Amino acid sequence: MKINRIYINKLSSKIGKQVVIKGWVKVRRDQGKMVFLDFRDTTGVVQGVILPKSGAMDVGKNIREECVVEVTGKVNERPERNKKPNTQNGDIELEILKIIVLNFAEVLPFPIDGDTREVNESTRLKYRYLDLRTSRMQKNIKNRFKVQNFVRNYLSEQNFIEIETPILSVPTPEGSRSFIVPHRIWKGDFYALPQSPQQYKQLLMTAGFEKYFQFARCMRDEDARGDRQAEFTQLDMELAFVDEEDIMQINEQLLIELIKKQYPEKQIQQIPFPRITYAGAMEKYGNDRPDIREDKNNPNLLAFLWVVDFPMFEKTEDENVDGTGEWTFTHNPFSKPKDEHLKMFMNKENIGNILTTQYDIILNGFEIGGGSIRNHKSEALKKTFEIMGYTDDKIEKNFGHILEAFSYGAPPHGGIAWGFDRLIMILENELSIREVIPFAKTGDGKDLILGAPAQISDKQKKELGVKITKINT
Ligand code: ASP
Repeated sequence: MKINRIYINKLSSKIGKQVVIKGWVKVRRDQGKMVFLDFRDTTGVVQGVILPKSGAMDVGKNIREECVVEVTGKVNERPERNKKPNTQNGDIELEILKIIVLNFAEVLPFPIDGDTREVNESTRLKYRYLDLRTSRMQKNIKNRFKVQNFVRNYLSEQNFIEIETPILSVPTPEGSRSFIVPHRIWKGDFYALPQSPQQYKQLLMTAGFEKYFQFARCMRDEDARGDRQAEFTQLDMELAFVDEEDIMQINEQLLIELIKKQYPEKQIQQIPFPRITYAGAMEKYGNDRPDIREDKNNPNLLAFLWVVDFPMFEKTEDENVDGTGEWTFTHNPFSKPKDEHLKMFMNKENIGNILTTQYDIILNGFEIGGGSIRNHKSEALKKTFEIMGYTDDKIEKNFGHILEAFSYGAPPHGGIAWGFDRLIMILENELSIREVIPFAKTGDGKDLILGAPAQISDKQKKELGVKITKINT
């Protein structure tokens, strides 16, 4: 009779029974007369033993760690003295009767039985599928999913809906460079990959969805800078008929519930989250994302902080992406000034003193999110671009679509986006976002597994009407 495969985390309910498990050989210890094998599947680990006269001995002697196996065995309770409390399956052992090798494994480029933090990171990224087998990486990726799931359920219970927005689009100004995709048929025309769903989510407000969210993939073509990834995930949100207070409340509550449910061992330093103005933060800490933890050695302490009242504009530098005028936006060109500064803004006076409705959320010294209330009236939004020195033509060309959209009854609205990778990094006590991104790229933007970015064939270049003038190797 065929015995169905059972997952390793279900074994303890099968004491005395014969079972079939499938998975990988995690550890092999040959003690001469007996061979001990630990097996791993997606649910955990169990220790198995091949007793002296077992028919599995031949295979057990020749098998290697990380081979994929189907194992028939009997679940035995361990003698009291051999029980390992607080270890998964520490009270049982699998007496191995038969092993079928489903796939043999060569010796791995690095050991994966422990933590791979010490392994050269390029090697880890090149063999990410092996690195991801480690228990720490499995935990990080599974917890990332759990948090995503929690957020999705939480927001959908509050009548948000998740809406996907295009990946192939035009550049949207988030203060960075866009990745560009050539079009085969419309030669000479290019899509841009989204730096964020900013304009689409505002159009969704105009479309009357009122409560939107999305786990959105965002792409920014930046020079290698610290712990950044060219593509990353935002939890993006937008709501109609809200003010700053509403959005901060919703997000604060979501974060508190999330921590309570998914990370009960963690402790939030202060609820409600403290707030500080940008000017106050600069004066007190010299930066706008201070780490206000009272005990920086406590790995479970979470110190959230809202930073508000940012200046709306700053002087441009020469290499500024817009390069058009003396002022540029500090965070988001779609942001609305604070009500008390609206008049100054509409009159284009005291530009440097205009404060915006922008709010950033900081956690343990990292900016994990930010957003604002938007200029939902065309004439107000247009002012921002005028202040930035855009000509009417340029405004029309780049933003005519959204100015027109807002002229057909756009509700007041605002939103926020979390840097989801960074949040998970902190919650998982990791030091780099690459530890929580399954297929992370190197700091300089390379996918070492598939070899991206890569050159394209002459045929592709011809099809796309693209000519390469310089190759960087
Ligand atoms: N789109 C903004 C960003 O990516 C966030 C927001 O204002 O909602 O930073």
